[in-house]
Amino acid sequence: MSDTVRDLVIIGGGPAGLSAAIYASRSMLDAVTLEREASGGQMVLTGEIDNYPGLPGTDGYGLAEAMRAQAEGLGAHLEMDLVTSVGRDEASGLFSVSTSTGVYQAKCVIAALGARPRRAGFEGEEEFTGRGVSYCATCDGMFYRNKHVFVIGGGNSAAEEALFLARIASKVTIVVRRDHMRAQTALVRRLESDEKVEIRYQTSVVAVEGGRLPSSITLRDNATGTLKVENHEEGSFGIFVLVGREPETELLGNLVERDESGYVVTDDRMATRTPGLFVAGDARRKPLRQIVTAAADGAVAATSAAAYLGLPVEG
Ligand SMILES: Cc1cc2nc3c(=O)[nH]c(=O)nc-3n(C[C@H](O)[C@H](O)[C@H](O)COP(=O)(O)OP(=O)(O)OC[C@H]3O[C@@H](n4cnc5c(N)ncnc54)[C@H](O)[C@@H]3O)c2cc1C
Repeated sequence: MSDTVRDLVIIGGGPAGLSAAIYASRSMLDAVTLEREASGGQMVLTGEIDNYPGLPGTDGYGLAEAMRAQAEGLGAHLEMDLVTSVGRDEASGLFSVSTSTGVYQAKCVIAALGARPRRAGFEGEEEFTGRGVSYCATCDGMFYRNKHVFVIGGGNSAAEEALFLARIASKVTIVVRRDHMRAQTALVRRLESDEKVEIRYQTSVVAVEGGRLPSSITLRDNATGTLKVENHEEGSFGIFVLVGREPETELLGNLVERDESGYVVTDDRMATRTPGLFVAGDARRKPLRQIVTAAADGAVAATSAAAYLGLPVEG
């Protein structure tokens, strides 16, 4: 980092940020991509990806690595750094991107911040996070080999992760708030035909208690309101909370407009209400949050940034 004013700072190294880095490199922008963890974002949490065009049955880590290598091969500059705030000086129009190591100055910013797991809200959730409560089956599933796991959630991610867990755990109990799962029918059929999987509809987890590790789980029958406490040997079971994700857009402050769920409102060029600030990927309001749409957003955002800077663009 120096006093240099860059063309572009890209925040986030998931598929949206890496795709933006690829397109920015090909447009010869002086850009840096800042990622607080390893590159790949949510892709690295995904064991198998079946819907990325041209790469059937690829694994998330492999796809993340391929995108990172492609970006670096094209000259993209990737740094591991946590961005803590973004500001814009009205007079100069320059952005200041503060990180845990310093401040970057840039003419444009693409925020590809993604989304984080949503909490389920039961008693004991915070206390047992990392000690029986997890938000990622791909990351933590192996700790539950031959144990009983509860999966909270009824969407596609919950269904996919429950199928993954069924290969490891002795039993998977899916706890679904409503009277049906929202996941794709094909996934629900696979769950229903898996003998290790039990689906409890109209049920919520209200509390998890225990010592160092959980030893009881309290379930509520949402139809009757009845509570049922299930006691288990301490540490013999786990809870995977897979109730969706929420955008991580706090660091953009008032520079952006958000919808009622916190997603950033952009136009179809990924532009926000602040000139030179673009938002791409899961963090923005859109109908489908997937790798392919994140990558497309990143490409559009980098192209829009180049156009904003008055540079020739691809396409
Ligand atoms: C379990 C699971 C399974 C999935 N399966 C599929 C699938 O099969 N097919 C599919 O297409 N999609 C799948 N998805 C969805 C897909 O992974 C996301 O839609 C996609 O990764 C979104 O990309 P993104 O770049 O917008 O955000 P992310 O992938 O979330 O990347 C955002 C990045 O920004 C970084 N970041 C955030 N804040 C900061 C900060 N302050 N400073 C620095 N860096 C920061 C994060 O660390 C992260 O790496 C799955 C998601 C999950 C969780």
